[in-house]
Amino acid sequence: MAWTPYKKKLYEPGQNEPFKLSRSKIDSFLECPQCFYLDRRLGVGRPSMASFTLNNAVDHLLKKEFDTHRAEKTPHPLLKSYGLELVPFQHKQMDEWRENFVGVQYLHKPTNFLVFGAVDDIWIDKEGVVYVVDYKATSKDTEIKELDDTKWHDQYRRQMEMYQWLLKHNDLKVSDTGYFVYVNGKRDNKAFDAKLEFDVNLIPYTGKSDWVDDVLVKAKTCLDGDELPSSHPECEHCKYRKEAGEAFQKHVKAFGAGALSKVKKK
Ligand code: SF4
Repeated sequence: MAWTPYKKKLYEPGQNEPFKLSRSKIDSFLECPQCFYLDRRLGVGRPSMASFTLNNAVDHLLKKEFDTHRAEKTPHPLLKSYGLELVPFQHKQMDEWRENFVGVQYLHKPTNFLVFGAVDDIWIDKEGVVYVVDYKATSKDTEIKELDDTKWHDQYRRQMEMYQWLLKHNDLKVSDTGYFVYVNGKRDNKAFDAKLEFDVNLIPYTGKSDWVDDVLVKAKTCLDGDELPSSHPECEHCKYRKEAGEAFQKHVKAFGAGALSKVKKK
């Protein structure tokens, strides 16, 4: 797929209009402020990645399955097997909250950021307390029964905490406990046989969303400044960008403008 420059509205220092900022962009600020600045202030977003269509299919089917129980107000067998008295939450905004680029929204007044993020699901208990639910699909040799200390799982934790923060600001009683419905595609079957089988585990996680306000203020300070923030020292993409630029310049210096003739024709 060809890389195209970013078309979304960019941040302008001092703007009065609320600035829409997704949960994933906030995460990109935490990962690398320079990448965030390049993207949201200067309009150069990261190249897009191939979409994970198999994972998306699993998400879609899980949603359909839980939606059946939502309509009937019945607990899903998975929840029963874990002894949880929770049912999928019925709310008039549920579809909106699950839709990409819409999601659960909250205008954070100190920064004027309109923060949003689309949840996979929400469950509710008998006392009216809601629980954030996130579906995760993978295929590993070992069963996944808990989150580990990889950076991916840290990202999942932050994702859960952002959703909890957003829902708390939408006047819901939100539990600090959220759930990952983790499905793991089995690799030890004898043959493919035109089907994939999965182990499904429910992983509880107790979130702490007290970091969010502070990070939003820092992200605003970053966007308001004219200085390019530092990059992540271990990022292989930046290393590539730097080395490719240097090699390019060196080559042009050695062979003159002729070295660029084919590049210019493209
Ligand atoms: S280190 Fe460079 S490429 Fe990597 S995330 Fe930051 S700005 Fe982007």
